[in-house]
Amino acid sequence: MEYRSIAIDGPSGAGKSTLAKRLAQELGFLYVDTGAIYRTVGLAARRQGIDPADGERVAAMLPGLSITMGYGADGLQHMFLDGEDVTAAIRENDISACASKAAALPAVRDFLMEMQRRTAREHHVIMDGRDIGTVVLPNADLKIFLTAAPEARAERRYQELMERGQRADFDQVLREVVERDRRDTQRETAPLRQGPDAVLADTTGLDLEESFQLLLGIIQERLDIREGTHEE
Ligand code: C5P
Repeated sequence: MEYRSIAIDGPSGAGKSTLAKRLAQELGFLYVDTGAIYRTVGLAARRQGIDPADGERVAAMLPGLSITMGYGADGLQHMFLDGEDVTAAIRENDISACASKAAALPAVRDFLMEMQRRTAREHHVIMDGRDIGTVVLPNADLKIFLTAAPEARAERRYQELMERGQRADFDQVLREVVERDRRDTQRETAPLRQGPDAVLADTTGLDLEESFQLLLGIIQERLDIREGTHEE
């Protein structure tokens, strides 16, 4: 069977994961959060006391790692590191920077490539990340570049941290967003960029529901997909 794939790329805080998760549910696709995979590598480095930007040490760590993805009864993606469910641990605020440092290393990107491609070969997927349309799934049926102004993204991230009861300072969150953008767009390997064949969706000033409708509209217009393309 021919599987369909939708790639959603964009900077952190644009709403990719929340929106992609809901779209996947609506369309009966599997939602694949590739940031979670990079976060798992970042967490592994942190736990082993390795600087996630240290190419040699991180590359040496990779062959010994078992990183797997699984889908719970809730349909949500869980990440496992050496058999342990680390789905919650990878969301700690300081793991974001570890993930983005490790993600700049070609060895890490190569290591995780096949896992992502295999998932798309075996399911209808909505996959979100930074290089899905440009590198991982160059033949995706639809590519969307989802973005919003840095302040709007920092505000969402700030609210998210507050809701989780984590202490946060808005200016600090904004600085982290800008710094992560810089690292993600300026790295040599698979930098974040809008590919020429990606549709731009800017959610600055839109709430979640409006952003969802914007993306659903793009998908329905460009792909012959209606609700209920469920896998057998
Ligand atoms: O999407 P999320 O913020 O969870 O991703 C964490 C980090 O992983 C990003 O800042 C980015 O550096 C990296 N990443 C990546 N390529 C992807 C997904 C995430 O480089 N496809």
